[in-house]
Amino acid sequence: MSEKMLNFTVGPVMSCDEVLEVSGKSAPYFRTPEFSEIMKENEKMMMELLSAPKGSRVAFLTASGTGAMESAVMNILNDKDKVIVVNGGSFGQRFAELCELHKREYTEVKLEFGKTLKKSEFAGLSGKGYTALLINMCETSSGVLYDMPMVSEFCKENGILLIVDAISAFLADELEMDKLGIAAVITSSQKALALHPGISMITMAPEAIERVEKNTETGMYLSLKEALKNGERGQTPFTPAVAILLSLNARLHQIEKTGGKKAEHKRIAAIAKQFRDGIADLPLDAFSEMQSNCVTALRVKEGSAKDIVNTFKDKYNIWLCPNGGEIGNTVFRVGHIGNITAEDNSRLIEVFKEVLE
Ligand SMILES: *Cc1c(COP(=O)(O)O)cnc(C)c1O
Repeated sequence: MSEKMLNFTVGPVMSCDEVLEVSGKSAPYFRTPEFSEIMKENEKMMMELLSAPKGSRVAFLTASGTGAMESAVMNILNDKDKVIVVNGGSFGQRFAELCELHKREYTEVKLEFGKTLKKSEFAGLSGKGYTALLINMCETSSGVLYDMPMVSEFCKENGILLIVDAISAFLADELEMDKLGIAAVITSSQKALALHPGISMITMAPEAIERVEKNTETGMYLSLKEALKNGERGQTPFTPAVAILLSLNARLHQIEKTGGKKAEHKRIAAIAKQFRDGIADLPLDAFSEMQSNCVTALRVKEGSAKDIVNTFKDKYNIWLCPNGGEIGNTVFRVGHIGNITAEDNSRLIEVFKEVLE
């Protein structure tokens, strides 16, 4: 196993040199005007990448993505809400469990694994007093990308607050908060931002901020009221993952320098296409409808998905992403996010041919 490790999971993923240079250093003390300046710039640049409407804000939480999902359920929603949860896999299921735990009344739109969301699934949910909708833009467990313009239209028609977990879709697929009228978008450091895990962000439009201000706080560490208040001066209520926030700044500048979000999109889409075209003739079924650019879920036609993942890891030093639960015997995933070059991708395809043919 002499070759360099290549990581094609969906996070944590490979980081670029600009990021590694920053995240490999000792963390500086952070209650300083210098750090505050960087945080304010992080906020501004994140809002630009998301096309957040005027008056939006970003809360930076030192937590994995689930921490931000939980924080949104705790702080943006309240016990008077009637919530629709789109559940097409393990991340949709997580939103349902969070609603259960925090006593938010909810109804699930359950989808068959790998199937996308159709307008007909919302039939019967109009005019029923629903106040909020929780959705994972890409359900990372199956790689399905939901039709966000359709979801947005349904929410606008019904005056429903739209909260989007775009943790895996951000930068991989097109997402504009203002156009879609999204109240809050959740993102995380370890997916297409390709930083170390540990920071999650909730970008909130004014309607979400207003709710946070009005709602009674139900927690301390994940309080968005506190995050927003401290954020006014470029700070966080508690010690954040300082090195990741600094590396976020380096990465945001890198994205800007290399052509912005459109270029980043195109780059990830090209990596995904190269892979999908490259393995088209192999005995694998890319079964998911409407795939996100961030990941491809594959069903094996014979043999075990777990064996394939292990062979790649042990024999080739290439990491693929296993699926959890029973489905993990037949389904695994290949990520297209992070610092993957066309050359890395060619090597991946070559190994796929070697292992599967
Ligand atoms: C990765 C991911 C998360 C966050 O998972 P953590 O392990 O808590 O970081 C949440 N939602 C989606 C859609 C994801 O892809």
